[in-house]
Amino acid sequence: MRRWNGWGEEGITYPVHELAVRFLLERVGPSTPPAPMGLEDLLTRVGEGRVETFPCSTSDPFQRLVHSFGQSFPDWLKFRMGLEFRTPDLVAFPGEEGEVLEIVDAARRERVVLIPYGGGTSVVGHLEVLDYERPVVSVDLSRMKGLLELDERSGVALLEAGATGPQVEMALGERGYTLGHFPQSFQFSTLGGWVATRSSGQFSLKYGKIERLFLGGRLVSPEGLYQVHPHPGAATGLDMKDVILGSEGRMGIITRCLMKVSRVPEKEVVEGALLPDDARGMEAVRLLAQAGVPLTMLRLSLSRETECVLALTAHKWWFGLLERYLEWRKLPSTRALLLFAASGSARDVELALSRVRRVVKGLGGILLGSLPGKRWKRDRFLLPYLRNTLWEMGYGVDTLETAALWEMVPELVTRIEKALEGAYAFSHLSHVYPTGSSIYTTFIFPLSRDPLENLERWRTFKGRASQAIVEGGGVISHHHGVGLDHKPYLEREKGKLGLKVMRGVIKEFDPYGIMNPGKLVE
Ligand SMILES: Cc1cc2nc3c(=O)[nH]c(=O)nc-3n(C[C@H](O)[C@H](O)[C@H](O)COP(=O)(O)OP(=O)(O)OC[C@H]3O[C@@H](n4cnc5c(N)ncnc54)[C@H](O)[C@@H]3O)c2cc1C
Repeated sequence: MRRWNGWGEEGITYPVHELAVRFLLERVGPSTPPAPMGLEDLLTRVGEGRVETFPCSTSDPFQRLVHSFGQSFPDWLKFRMGLEFRTPDLVAFPGEEGEVLEIVDAARRERVVLIPYGGGTSVVGHLEVLDYERPVVSVDLSRMKGLLELDERSGVALLEAGATGPQVEMALGERGYTLGHFPQSFQFSTLGGWVATRSSGQFSLKYGKIERLFLGGRLVSPEGLYQVHPHPGAATGLDMKDVILGSEGRMGIITRCLMKVSRVPEKEVVEGALLPDDARGMEAVRLLAQAGVPLTMLRLSLSRETECVLALTAHKWWFGLLERYLEWRKLPSTRALLLFAASGSARDVELALSRVRRVVKGLGGILLGSLPGKRWKRDRFLLPYLRNTLWEMGYGVDTLETAALWEMVPELVTRIEKALEGAYAFSHLSHVYPTGSSIYTTFIFPLSRDPLENLERWRTFKGRASQAIVEGGGVISHHHGVGLDHKPYLEREKGKLGLKVMRGVIKEFDPYGIMNPGKLVE
């Protein structure tokens, strides 16, 4: 069963060893674990609903409670510490597109606000129930999870939008195919959510961000059913796919997605290497991205992240062994861990990996072989469980992400980490392009027992770092989306006219303002 007040499945934990506790004490400072909020207490805050009947809906207080939150830091303050929150009046669970049409039609007639809900993993406030004057229904797509068609000749699959990562991969895998989209939230996030937020997966270097995989689909809007047909290419004016991508629930409910799929690769190997410093690490990934080496992943933990991740996640004996080995190789204490992956035929994999090994060696790095890659693959969806453990120890964790041109990347990393002074911050580059890279920063800080004080601390960090991002030439989000938290920074990138165009498009699909209002743009 899924945890209602944290990340992941009940019963799965990510314990930290005593070396990690010491590391946190030294780098982040002492902490006092906050008292957890009980489910019964939270349920007493679920008030009377303002609508009684609506298609496919339930007024069950537990469902209304859990559909009030995503996974942003303020969401955690709500379910862990009882920070004030509002709940939807009902939760609808449509089982097929016809029922979604009924729901949207009823909402249009009765002027009910709808918030589409995929896996509830948003980290930027997409799902927050604002102070709407109208009743609110959360529309949970989890019953719509099937593979409807697979066109093997074209390599195109038609899937229902509520399918989670495992459901997508299982259905395609049985036929020998993969979508290749593996965000760290893979276990719970959904196809519709990925499209609506312009998500990116760990293997984006090979398969691309979701926008490269999404070929078309169907959206139920208050103005009716809208369909985007898939074409290998078109010269027919604006691409309407781009209207659905990143729509964040503002224009309608995505019910079906036509996705580009690939054959499951014969072989997939992840290896590790250490570069002597951040500058040479970034040089390695830039060179490889620009050379077009056919890799599946390039993930560079900069030196602060390398140190932190090794301290928090590595086994004591492995950590000690690595330290001794590095001392023996006389590698400086600032070093950047590179994980690189290739997939395809055994020959293609070996060719691609050997090109990385050559670049690493040329820059004075050392190769660690496949052990770090195996550990990463084993734990890649487990790491977020660390957030539960850290919270219970009294530490808050949040992440920020952006993308910028290579010219700006090193300076931007420094700016972001500096803006987070007072927290312990560290970064990695995980989605690289020939022209630039995403930057992903994690920050950890001690929690207070007062939820409002924690909210204020977080707002200060988030505000300073977001400002540093836009002033340093970065985009406010590379893959988490806009939601509520990034909305104030959007104008800097889009301009006033750009925002006006976005509002205009939204209004054409939803003239009644009933689709997730207040998110993305006013
Ligand atoms: C631990 C963790 C790790 C993460 N790692 C990654 C990562 O590696 N890469 C990445 O890109 N993101 C990541 N995220 C962020 C999050 O998982 C993504 O934004 C994801 O795409 C959200 O999908 P979801 O199904 O959970 O959508 P939700 O959170 O339920 O909804 C997000 C938004 O999409 C809208 N929406 C959802 N479904 C539909 C639909 N069918 N039709 C219309 N609108 C819809 C909602 O209204 C909302 O505005 C992570 C989050 C967490 C908590």
